[in-house]
Amino acid sequence: MKEVKNSQESSLTIRTMRAMVMEVPGQPLIEKTIPLPVPSTKQVLVKIIACGVCRTDLHIMDSELSQPKLPLIPGHEIVGTVVKLGDGVKKLKIGDLVGIPWLGFACGHCKYCKREQENLCENALFTGYTMDGGYAEYTAAFEDFCFSLPAMYGNPSGAPLLCAGLIGYRSYTMTGPNADKIGLYGFGAAAHILIQVALHQGKKIYAFTRDGDVDAQKFAKELGATWAGDSTVTPPELLDASIIFAPVGSLVPKALKDLDKGGSVICGGIHMSDIPSFPYELLWEERMIRSVANLTRKDGWDFIALAAQVPVKSETTLFPLEKANEALAAVRDGQVQGAVVLVM
Ligand SMILES: [Zn+2]
Ligand SMILES: [Zn+2]
Repeated sequence: MKEVKNSQESSLTIRTMRAMVMEVPGQPLIEKTIPLPVPSTKQVLVKIIACGVCRTDLHIMDSELSQPKLPLIPGHEIVGTVVKLGDGVKKLKIGDLVGIPWLGFACGHCKYCKREQENLCENALFTGYTMDGGYAEYTAAFEDFCFSLPAMYGNPSGAPLLCAGLIGYRSYTMTGPNADKIGLYGFGAAAHILIQVALHQGKKIYAFTRDGDVDAQKFAKELGATWAGDSTVTPPELLDASIIFAPVGSLVPKALKDLDKGGSVICGGIHMSDIPSFPYELLWEERMIRSVANLTRKDGWDFIALAAQVPVKSETTLFPLEKANEALAAVRDGQVQGAVVLVM
């Protein structure tokens, strides 16, 4: 094994890579040629096929999430193949197809890790935020936090599964087994994946979009939504749960208002504008509001297996790596159907 590994390593003659780098928050990413990352003992070097562009990347660039690594290579929806192994790598092999998600590392020994909440780990590292991510030709990732991907997702359509899909799925599991009628606020990358999973499990989906966004409403109906309309409109029935993907706090009391007794509003984003005050009666009768933070590896294993079974097909708009700033602008404008993905 050692010999194979060495020969594989020596066959990797490239020493530099192209990357889109955030040097200062609030300014466009800069295209750079930089040294190839060196994987540490428990890391693998991955040649990136594609990396999704997520709204969280905008929150980092806009300083709505504080203290990023600087300079930073953003991107946390990475699909690629393993090209080099750190000395302590035990499971992955050269050539393995992997997905690299937002959770780049969890310590395994803090109180959250010990109670199966590694998504809340006190010592967590996040891909494309506190570790370099996937807006580059290569990245180094901890093998224990890479997901093996089925061959069908070894292309740009696999990238959105790694965050939009995964966080969407974690949010969806929070709605509980009794939720049959589920509202989705913001019909973008996450919702268009989640609706496929939810319909597969016999749920009914109500899609809420920006006011007047008839294209997104049509898209939701084509994917099988029972109803689609403006986010300000009352749906035809009371809902068992709503998941809010749009970073808009005023949607929380609106979603509560449309909720049946015992229902829940799940906030799926990492950042949201302030939630306006609302009368207690909207929360009364055991309605709930909760946020969803990050992911656990179990979420990833469960979701990727389920996605392949459905099978989930993501709709993508592709940009070359060097057009990352244009890709981010497209996510900000919300004018793109489905998910935005960079290809290397
Ligand atoms: Zn921990
Ligand atoms: Zn994300």
